[in-house]
Amino acid sequence: MNEIGAALTANDWVERMSQLALRQGVHLSTLQQKAGGDLEMFFASATLAFPSGASFTEKEANEILKRFLAGAGVMVATDHVELRRWMVDAGFLQRSDHGTDYRRGAMPDWLSNAAQQLDFERIAGAVGHARSANESQREARRQAWLASQIEVTEGGEGDAKVVGEASADETFMRLALDQAHNAWALSEVPVGAVVVKDNKILATGFNQPIGNADPTAHAEIRAMRAASQLLGNYRLNDCELYVTLEPCAMCAGAMQHARIKRLIYGAADSKTGACGSVIDLFAEPRLNHHTEVRAGVLADESRRLLSSFFVERRELKRQGSLPPDADDAE
Ligand SMILES: [Zn+2]
Repeated sequence: MNEIGAALTANDWVERMSQLALRQGVHLSTLQQKAGGDLEMFFASATLAFPSGASFTEKEANEILKRFLAGAGVMVATDHVELRRWMVDAGFLQRSDHGTDYRRGAMPDWLSNAAQQLDFERIAGAVGHARSANESQREARRQAWLASQIEVTEGGEGDAKVVGEASADETFMRLALDQAHNAWALSEVPVGAVVVKDNKILATGFNQPIGNADPTAHAEIRAMRAASQLLGNYRLNDCELYVTLEPCAMCAGAMQHARIKRLIYGAADSKTGACGSVIDLFAEPRLNHHTEVRAGVLADESRRLLSSFFVERRELKRQGSLPPDADDAE
């Protein structure tokens, strides 16, 4: 990775934008915090979308930035107005004295050589290619996983058919596992959750602390937050929460505040599990009066999903193509 100050080559630039392209919902402030000048490179890429030498009205500048954010810049969660302001503040766009026209600003030294060799189409093409390749990989992975699920379901012919509550638990846990795939698609540790009331899904959530730059963005918290907003009530009385991995202390605490009626989880988490693996917050009667806990529903599937994710991540790390920020996840 290039540090700020070391000149970037055009190839490195395109490569880095292609890596960033695999992410989604990245905030400008997150790019800013990262070493390696990602934010400047991102702004510079947007700058290249402005034909050099020309000047643009605010409306034209907005159109160019909108197109950029729908294409090469799609991984970043911002709008054209915020982006324009940041780019003007950072000098990547120049605004005329009367504030009506915009033109390309100067590139910082470490990007200026590469910028001369690059045209915007090359960046946009590489980003589009990286995203569609990633999309087909994801789809293949999901299909393979679904196929393995069908084998699991059909394989157990000698087993007694599970009926009633148990099979409802498995059905909802499969939906939680599907949510976990959404986390994986964004290179986040695949954990998913659903909140159920009266046998209906009220809300879903998946793990996304990195993309959201939010240490509380665990699957359970996101699902409970969405359910609470839907009900207009911070108490989730009579709700059941399904999550693919044993909840941590934060999530277990939030469930107790929300008075979740029943918690159903998949795999145990020996590192941070707060339902018996490390501590058991639900066994403490001074804390927990409300939540009944069932462990181990589709635990194998959940564990397999997590271990495939970490295998893939080690492989990406070995190839040096780990998506940015992914190091923070463990
Ligand atoms: Zn948690």
